[in-house]
This record gives sequence, structure tokens and C-alpha cells, in this order.
Amino acid sequence: MTIVDIINKKRLNKELTREEIDFAVSGYLDGSVKDYQMSSLLMAIVINGMTDRETIDLTDIMLKSGEVIDLSKIDGLIVDKHSTGGVGDKVTLVLAPLLASFGIKIAKMSGRGLGHTGGTIDKLESIEGFNTSIDNKAFIKQVNKINIALVSQTGNLVPADKKIYALRDVTGTVESIPLIASSIMSKKLASGSDIIMIDVKVGNGALMKNFHDAKKLARIMVKIGKAYRKPTICILTNMEEPLGYAIGNSLEVKEAIDTLKGNGPSDLLEVVMTFASLIVGAYKKISNNEARDLIFKQINTGAAYKKFEEMVKAQGGDIEKIKYTDKVFSIKSDKEGYINKIDALALGNIAKKIGAGRNSLEDEIDYEVGLVLSKKVGDYVAKDEELVKVYLKNKDISISEILSCFEIDPELTNDPQLILGIVK
Ligand code: URA
Repeated sequence: MTIVDIINKKRLNKELTREEIDFAVSGYLDGSVKDYQMSSLLMAIVINGMTDRETIDLTDIMLKSGEVIDLSKIDGLIVDKHSTGGVGDKVTLVLAPLLASFGIKIAKMSGRGLGHTGGTIDKLESIEGFNTSIDNKAFIKQVNKINIALVSQTGNLVPADKKIYALRDVTGTVESIPLIASSIMSKKLASGSDIIMIDVKVGNGALMKNFHDAKKLARIMVKIGKAYRKPTICILTNMEEPLGYAIGNSLEVKEAIDTLKGNGPSDLLEVVMTFASLIVGAYKKISNNEARDLIFKQINTGAAYKKFEEMVKAQGGDIEKIKYTDKVFSIKSDKEGYINKIDALALGNIAKKIGAGRNSLEDEIDYEVGLVLSKKVGDYVAKDEELVKVYLKNKDISISEILSCFEIDPELTNDPQLILGIVK
């Protein structure tokens, strides 16, 4: 067997055996398969795809390339949540403490954000003192004590994905359903939870640009989960406009806190509710509507927020110390009409440019900057009325670039659906 034979086989759209996939992945990790050979194989996979069997084998080989977290010392049902990445996506910050307030265990290890979407860990670190680097023993102790810990990834989880993803990033080979599915699921399976929830974002601000591809991705991830007897639930949610109003680390934490206190934006609350009601319904063996009632109660009584506060305290953070810059600029609309579109990707990139995101893992994030929308799709805006607030420090913005993110017309023609589907 040679790597060239394997590349040629995939180029001719033939199904690879497990041994061939293993030869390529293991060879890439030990250096016997070179970057240029792996790039070539990845591109053949992007073009010709993989069968479900190949995708499951690739996931298994990547999963076994490193450490698998042992959460067996945690009592109770352990749930993990992942997002394929969206602009203003602070769902985990709300959903995780909410579920933990029901006694469900959240033992979540996250990576840092890259590109136009921020990571949960970066957002949490905007709370002064919040420590995300906790060793495994303390992590498990905290989950057993207060049901929740949100920490940054430690250890050698799925090194094959780390190396292959870095190559995909610079060779135009990210956008492939089998490669994305095996990359996400190998990491989720290595994280050791009992149930995996995945928010598959769909739209211009997301990796999956259309519903058809998002559904295909969800279907194969659910199938991979089943192969490991790990129930996997994918919810397809709209990412044509940012989720909620806030984009940027501390601004998103504030919006998450507002939501936990019952004052959050309706779209963010609906995504949280859709996930939470499925899990709470199954956990308590009650209907979805009964679960929704219980969840509202948990928010309205303050129990969900209290759990968030408890987690922040346990991880050394001071909830009173979340900093935003006081340099705030109001961007006003240059015309009147109905907002039919808000370009999530472009706004995410503007937020990144002013310091809220990073291009490479070495870049420093400025937690205090970002954007807060004053209007959402469907709203009416008058000329000179505020469209967005920009929280800015030491960087320039282009007002016309920001205005071009909003499509404003005399008539409202867009009524986007938020929850596009559930695959489980
Ligand atoms: N997120 C991942 O973890 N992997 C991918 O391939 C794409 C998004």
C-alpha cells in the first residue's frame, strides 16, 4: 500500500478501506505522509466525498489517535453541546447553566474561537478572574459538586484532527461534509459525554450555507453518534442574521446573563428552548410542552441565573467585573424602510477586525469591543435612527462598510424561520 495508490483511488471516486484511511491518517501523524500528499487526498475527498462507512471509519481512526476523557466518576446524565459556529452565538452560555440547574451534568471542554465566530472560552474569560484552565481532577470535582464546569481543552484530544484541520484551513479543504462530520464527532466522542447536542448553523454567517447540506451533515453526525451508542441530536438553526443583538465577548456574556434572567432576545431564547426542552423532556420523561413550562419557571425563579453565578464563582470569576469599553459609537441608518437582511458574516468580520475575534490562535482578543444591533430583520427603521452601536478601542471603522451589512427596503419581504429542523 502506498499513499499515492490511496490518493489515486479516491481521485477515481472509489471507496477506501479502513486500512487505507488508517494508513493515510497514521502516516500523516508520524510524518511519513507529507503535507502535500495529505492535501491532495483531502481535496479528492472534498470533490468525491466519502461513504457513510468511510466517514465512520475516519472518525474512529481520528478519535483513537489521542486521549479519550474518562467522565465515569461523574454521577448522572452528562450532556455536551457544540455549535458549528455562528455570529453572536452565545447559546452555550445560557443553555449549559439552565440544564445544570435541573441536575443535568455539563462537563464541557471547548476550544477557542477562530475567524469571525467567537469561542465560549473566550467569552467566559471576559469575566475578570474566570479560570478556564482547570486540571481533570478539579474539573470532575466541580461537575459533581455544582453540575457544571466549562473549561478549555487540555490533554491530547484527537491530535489527528488538530493536524489535519490546520492543513485543511490553508488548502481550501474545510468545506466537505464527511471531513467536517468526522472532525466534530471525533472531538465530541473523545470528550466523554452521554448525550451530544449539536447546533448546526445554516446560512451566510455559517459553515453550511444551505439547508440541504446542513441536513446531510446532521444526518451523518447522528449516524456516527449511533455507532457509538451516544444519542446525538442536531438542531438546524438559521444564521442569516446574528443571533440576538450582541457580537463580541463581554457584550455577549451580558446578553446571556439577561437571557438567564428572563430578559433576553426572543431568537436566542427560542434556540435555547428548543435544545433544553428536548433534553429536559427526555430527562424528566415529560412532554415537550411540560418541559418548556418547567424551563420558563427555572428562568423566572432565578434558578438558571443562580447556577451561572455559582459556576463563575467556582471558577474564580467576579460576575460584577465584566468590562466593556465606554467608547461607544452610534451608527444611524441612511434611509428608512424595513430590514430584510443583516449580513451576519460581514458583521462578524467587522467585529473581528476591531479586535473581538482572532485570525490565528496567537492573536490577542480584546474582550471589551464589539457590536450591538439596535434592529433585527423584520424591524422598521427611520432615517437617522440607530441601527447598531459599536464598542470600539484603538481601531477604525468604516461607517459605509457597516451600513452595507443592512438591506433596507420599502417593503418587508423576508420572514426568516429560526428553527429549520431537528435530526436525531
Ligand atoms: N468545526 C470543526 O471542529 N471541524 C470542522 O471541520 C469544521 C468546523
